[in-house]
Amino acid sequence: AKNAGRNAFRLFRKGMNELIEKRRALEADLEIGLKRGEFELYLQPRVEVETADVIGYEALLRWSHPKRGMISPGDFIPVAEASGKIIQLGEWVLAEACRLLETIEGRISVNVSPLQFRHSEFVSNLTELLRRTGADPNRIELEITENVLIDDDKRALQILNDLKKIGFDIALDDFGTGYSSLSYLSRYPFDTIKIDRSFVSNIGKVENAQVIVRTIIDLGAGLGMNTVAEGVERIEEALFLAQAGCDELQGYLLGRPARASELARDIDPAIAT
Ligand code: C2E
Ligand code: CA
Ligand code: CA
Ligand code: CA
Repeated sequence: AKNAGRNAFRLFRKGMNELIEKRRALEADLEIGLKRGEFELYLQPRVEVETADVIGYEALLRWSHPKRGMISPGDFIPVAEASGKIIQLGEWVLAEACRLLETIEGRISVNVSPLQFRHSEFVSNLTELLRRTGADPNRIELEITENVLIDDDKRALQILNDLKKIGFDIALDDFGTGYSSLSYLSRYPFDTIKIDRSFVSNIGKVENAQVIVRTIIDLGAGLGMNTVAEGVERIEEALFLAQAGCDELQGYLLGRPARASELARDIDPAIAT
């Protein structure tokens, strides 16, 4: 038994070392990848329910790694966040989003990671970026998750107010997945609530899911915020959301993330009716 324990431990340590090695390699590749232009922003349409028009896009980061192929942000964002490289990466994303604004119509929403948001130069770098590119901040929405807000409320509030003053809209991403969303809603100046995909995909499947989604939409409306449903995949979900008064829909049903050059001009007319 003692031997078995020792063996298990050895295996565990081997596994951990491999994991650490993999992370380290990815971390080093991140910096090189940025220099070599391996990153790209895909755009996913946000569709206004009332008009069935695409009124903007969410920018989603893609990395085509020379050896590993396409790596999804779920795999490299945490590494970038842990190593601090997210600062550089996030700056690239914002600059690229500003550039894309010249080629598309409507607005772009950009994901901002907690470390990036709290970086002491975040607001001043953004100001400088706008000056340099001439991009209109009123066409940019910044998406943050509630873990950005967990501690140090005053500072987060100050940053959000500064961003709003510049003209950016602020969206609360993945709404409903965290802990104390309700108190955040009254404390911080959000323009938009994004209803997390986990709620949306339960519509019509899990009892009470409809009640929860409807309540979030009513809450948003009551607070004067725009509500966006994420991860809409089925007609049934879209119809329910529209009837419940959700302002915008986003998901594979309405359009997958794609290169700006490959965006469909119009959404499927079958959906737009
Ligand atoms: P998110 O902000 O919640 O983005 C939505 C994710 O859901 C995207 O995954 C999108 O491709 C996916 N999605 C959209 N519609 C559907 C649908 O109908 N069904 C399903 N199953 N999925 C759908 P993606 O692109 O893999 O991004 C994952 C996460 O990585 C994002 O979640 C966001 O947290 C993060 N991320 C992506 N780009 C950036 C970025 O530029 N900066 C930062 N900091 N984070 C990013
Ligand atoms: Ca997002
Ligand atoms: Ca604005
Ligand atoms: Ca989300």
